[in-house]
Amino acid sequence: MADENVGATPQSIQGEQQTESGWTRASDEDVDLYVDRVTDEVLACRERGRHLFPTIRQTGIHFTGVDDDGLLLRRLTCTCCELAVKVEKWEGFRGAGRRTRFRRVASHLEYRTGPDGQTYLAPSGRGHMTPRQIGDSVASKALSGQTLTALRKAATRASKDEKG
Ligand SMILES: [Zn+2]
Repeated sequence: MADENVGATPQSIQGEQQTESGWTRASDEDVDLYVDRVTDEVLACRERGRHLFPTIRQTGIHFTGVDDDGLLLRRLTCTCCELAVKVEKWEGFRGAGRRTRFRRVASHLEYRTGPDGQTYLAPSGRGHMTPRQIGDSVASKALSGQTLTALRKAATRASKDEKG
C-alpha cells in the first residue's frame, strides 16, 4: 500500500539540496563535452568525487610559506589528477609538558593548469557537475553503439553463467 506513494517522481535528495542552496546542475551536453576534453586522471577524480592527496606519512610534513597571521603553509598536489592543490594552514602551540604541538587550522583547494594547458574546472557559469553525472556520461560513451536489447540479453546471459 505504502509503495503507491513512493517513486512517482524519483528525486535525488542531493539534487534537491543543491537547488535549494542555489546550485545549478550542469546539463548532460555540457558534461559530455567536459568528459571529452579532460584526461582519464581528471575523470577519475571527478567520478570518485574526491582527490587523492598523499598522507603525512607518505610525503612527510614540509612547510613552504608563512601567511600574514604567522600560520605555516603546506601544499599537497593530488597524486591522481595533479591539478588540484590542497593548501593547509598549520599553527604551532605550547602543549602539555611545554612541548610544541602542531595542528591544522584550515585548508582549501586550489586548481592549477597542467603543463599542456589542462584544467580541472569546467567553464564557469555552466553549473556544477556531480560525480554521478560524470559516471553516467563516461558509461554512456563506453556503451555507445550497443542497443539496450542486446545489453539486456548479454546481462541475462551473464547472470545465468554466474549461477552456473
Ligand atoms: Zn585529483
